[in-house]
Amino acid sequence: MRLLLHVCCAPDAAAPFEILKNEPWEEITGFFYGSNIHPEDEYHRRADALKFLSGRYEINVLWRPYEPGLWFAAASHLADDPERGERCNLCFSLQLCAAAEEGVKRGASHLGTTLAISPHKDAALISRLGIETAASHGLIWGGRVWRKNNGFSRSVQISKELGLYRQSYCGCVYSQRQT
Ligand code: SF4
Repeated sequence: MRLLLHVCCAPDAAAPFEILKNEPWEEITGFFYGSNIHPEDEYHRRADALKFLSGRYEINVLWRPYEPGLWFAAASHLADDPERGERCNLCFSLQLCAAAEEGVKRGASHLGTTLAISPHKDAALISRLGIETAASHGLIWGGRVWRKNNGFSRSVQISKELGLYRQSYCGCVYSQRQT
């Protein structure tokens, strides 16, 4: 019962952190990928918000080094894809694979993600990618559709109460331009 939870951003992690802290996990560790985020200032704004939330709920978060060049090398051929298209599928896979690798290193039993809290994200797709990624790394998929039972509203409420930074676009330069 050791969970490695991929965290896409602090506001989306607020309700999951609150729920998980009340469950009998032996260990809960967050993981932030971040190399998809553009520009670097925005990365730091989101990372700072997550550091604050991590301290508030006493959930340790691991950080992948910020390497946008690697993300662009993998995803830039899909620059013209609309949001929720192939580029996003690839982006989710990159993030989940990085989280799974970290989970294996740390002896996690389960892999999860906060991604499915957003009503803008395809929960079935995330679940399928999560199951595949967890299985290929020898982990159990512990993903949930956090937006159920008013999870998304609760995350918004906590974010407001804590004054968390809330971004206006998904993360990459393409989503920033589209927004
Ligand atoms: S829109 Fe979001 S999920 Fe899609 S590629 Fe950009 S950062 Fe990744």
